[in-house]
Amino acid sequence: MAGHQGNVESTLRAAVAERLGEGRFGLWFGEGVRLGVADDALEVGVPNAFFREWIQGHFASNLIEAAEAVTGRTLRLTFHVADEAEPRVGNLIEPPPAEERRQPGKTVPLAPAPEPASQPSERDRDRDRPRNQARPPRRLDDFVTGPCNRLSHAAAVEMVQTLGTSFNPLVVDAGVGLGKTHLLEGIGHAMRTRSPGSRVIQGTAEAFTNGFLDAMRSGSLGSFRSRYRKADALIVDDVHFLAAKRATQDEFLHTFNALIAEGVPIVVAADQHPRRIARLTDELATRFLGGMVVKLDAPSPDTRAAILKAKAAARGVDVPDAVIGYIAEHIRSSVRELEGALHSLIAHAVLTGKRLDLALAKTALRDTIRHTAAAVGLRDVERAVCQLFELDGETLKSNSRARALSYPRMLAMYLARKHTGAAYSEIGRHFGGRNHSTVISAEKKVLGWLRDEEHSALLAGFETVADILAALERSLGT
Ligand code: ADP
Ligand code: MG
Repeated sequence: MAGHQGNVESTLRAAVAERLGEGRFGLWFGEGVRLGVADDALEVGVPNAFFREWIQGHFASNLIEAAEAVTGRTLRLTFHVADEAEPRVGNLIEPPPAEERRQPGKTVPLAPAPEPASQPSERDRDRDRPRNQARPPRRLDDFVTGPCNRLSHAAAVEMVQTLGTSFNPLVVDAGVGLGKTHLLEGIGHAMRTRSPGSRVIQGTAEAFTNGFLDAMRSGSLGSFRSRYRKADALIVDDVHFLAAKRATQDEFLHTFNALIAEGVPIVVAADQHPRRIARLTDELATRFLGGMVVKLDAPSPDTRAAILKAKAAARGVDVPDAVIGYIAEHIRSSVRELEGALHSLIAHAVLTGKRLDLALAKTALRDTIRHTAAAVGLRDVERAVCQLFELDGETLKSNSRARALSYPRMLAMYLARKHTGAAYSEIGRHFGGRNHSTVISAEKKVLGWLRDEEHSALLAGFETVADILAALERSLGT
């Protein structure tokens, strides 16, 4: 490679790393992956089809953005697969089905030419489609259930079967990476499968917003409205995006009301309970609450293991139980992180040609795990709790059993257990030299409060313990 290209490559790599963060960049853009610019394309050289699929599915827009920032040109994304023949590690990964096998260097259109706004249908429909089109839709059948999500899954199935006659709308409330989009895509897919030809409009609140603004600009509000109002079902992801967008919210409310009046099933997902989405109009919040609100919680260790097994099986990879257990124990934040860890481990095995065993898992995931574990430390928890309760660290850790202190201390221990990955004993030591059983009973107590939706008068401005924890978690950035 010429010096000039080499230079471009290192600039590109830096720009991509900046967008992905070092952890992810290190995992997916190591030695085996090259970046180059040729003509009007950013060419990504990858060792095998698996890398192409993964990078294309997850980082395509970051790559294009980085390349355009570096070159100042509009570029397509192309892949060059060094080894179209399958990976070296025996039967580790099933070859993709024949129709999915693409030619090396096949391009992916990333920035389709804009069309005149007055030619709505085809392109608008596209825009509302989930962004990652290379991937087949996620299905309700692939959604692994456990105590954290069973109710939501059942509600989704019920929605598909009764099409809004038992409740309408269905609102799915969950934090990032816990399966909202999966569930919504699954619902859409199931509805289309049950009645082919039905008009299921599915997209993000952002797409709705953009469509609405475009329609306003181009004077085609009428066709925008009639398109939505002719829907047989409406599925809108990430409705918290509507917060503070007054005009769009009003438009959405009208659409919503018109469809509900016709008995058209509506499903929405949000990153919070509708009542807690700041700057959502009362009217819209009330509308959302008129149906069924279900929550997806973070999965328990057993469910994490079950999800990992399902994902490994879906890839056709045989992952030993010890490895599943190891990942399930260490990656706790979200299903997305779990999936990411599993995939990077598989990639690691493919790249190095090593056996996928516990030793490899420990090496391959070292950074990921350290990163997740380090993301929130005991001191961060201490700081957040002290700040909210207006205490200093010494007081929090003191021997006092006064409720005004023991209470925030228990919350701190609970949060430490939930987010830091520290052992009970370590947490006990940190919060005033207590032993591990103190931490265990604090955790139980807090879980009890949460279960009983315990109200708390200890902190002005918060109604329940859950509200206080939510505020603390927000300040921890979890
Ligand atoms: P969200 O939209 O809430 O941020 P996603 O629906 O995108 O989360 O989920 C993140 C990833 O985790 C997706 O790849 C999804 O398929 C997967 N996932 C989430 N929950 C489950 C589950 N219960 N079973 C299987 N996969 C899941
Ligand atoms: Mg989502």
